[in-house]
Amino acid sequence: MPIKPFAFINDQLEQRKSQHLYRSSVPINGKQSRYIDINGKQYLNFSSNDYLGLASDPALINAWKKGADLFGIGSGGSYLVTGYNQVHRDVTQQLQEWLGVESIALFSSGYSANQAIIKLLLSKNDLLIQDKLNHASLMEAGANSPVKMQRFKHNNIQHLQTILSANTEIDNKLVISEGVFSMDGDCAPIDSLQQQCQSHQAWLMIDDAHGLGVLGKEGTGSVSAQNINNNDIDIYMSTFGKALGIGGAFVSGSSQLIDYITNFSKPYIYTTGLPPAMVYCIGESARIVQTQQWRRDHLSELIAYFKLLSMKFELPLMPSNTAIQPILIGLSDTAITISQTLKKSGIWTTAIRPPTVPNNTARLRVTLTVNHQKQDIEFLVKQIKQAIDANLDE
Ligand code: PMP
Repeated sequence: MPIKPFAFINDQLEQRKSQHLYRSSVPINGKQSRYIDINGKQYLNFSSNDYLGLASDPALINAWKKGADLFGIGSGGSYLVTGYNQVHRDVTQQLQEWLGVESIALFSSGYSANQAIIKLLLSKNDLLIQDKLNHASLMEAGANSPVKMQRFKHNNIQHLQTILSANTEIDNKLVISEGVFSMDGDCAPIDSLQQQCQSHQAWLMIDDAHGLGVLGKEGTGSVSAQNINNNDIDIYMSTFGKALGIGGAFVSGSSQLIDYITNFSKPYIYTTGLPPAMVYCIGESARIVQTQQWRRDHLSELIAYFKLLSMKFELPLMPSNTAIQPILIGLSDTAITISQTLKKSGIWTTAIRPPTVPNNTARLRVTLTVNHQKQDIEFLVKQIKQAIDANLDE
């Protein structure tokens, strides 16, 4: 029998199906906002990272059009060739001022920014230390790098200290944590992380994909929310694809670090620059995020209301004070059934399952956004309660 090449593709897909872990994308018709239209049915959207309701904001749609008129839709090249337009420079400067950081490099996505940093800065004799619940983009980059990687228990400073103390002879140590954890919604103790890093001569990187725009003064993120300057974090990264409602990402740090990225980081150098119209729109979005505090105020009210009602209905909430409010279910099958029951009632919440989260911690990842109203939350909580009860009764 000849060997069938790449047989693992079929095997692994079949395995995913039999374990109820198979995934596929469903197309949304039209724009996403408070509701999403899927297959002609309207659902209340409790699955979006568009925390500040900007992804379909009319002012930003106009800004994108204006950006296209002014600078074109394509950058036409990589940043070091002809893909760096004046709009890239101006928006970069605007972001630096808003966030109070020395220097910024733009990336096509947060995923590629994370891959880039780990690949660029760490080699065989160095040490990468990551919170156990860090995002897949960080974990995968660490696993693909020759660097030695250790993971500390989630938000456990004592464990981090033990690892750092056991590795004093290593020169280059990088500790990475998310600011707001994407699947749990809780926040990192950035102050303590910073203290540990400083006392062990390690660098600290914060991935603030879910904190930028939502937390801190003028939406400047998780670090500033804990009264630390973004500029005092060795490497701060975030994406424009969540609270800013668009896409693309950035890394900030010292001018020297950004100079090093510009000269040596292949994911930065060998890719087409972000579309200028999009960058113009990112600039407008940053202005809205910075100045429209009412969006954060409304979101905070919704979060408090959701938590209050969930406690009243005894839902298995996880300890989060952010817009990410997961409901812990446990088994993947049960999480899927509950998510499907909710869909029948017109609510879209995604069941998050292993391998994205640890075994037996499948959950409904409820995300709240500025687009919601209190009555949406009342409906959501009641429907979740009913779906959970119906499932436990079976
Ligand atoms: N980091 C975290 C914590 C994330 O949640 C995500 C997106 N899911 C990323 C990085 C990747 O960002 P992007 O979507 O811009 O690739």
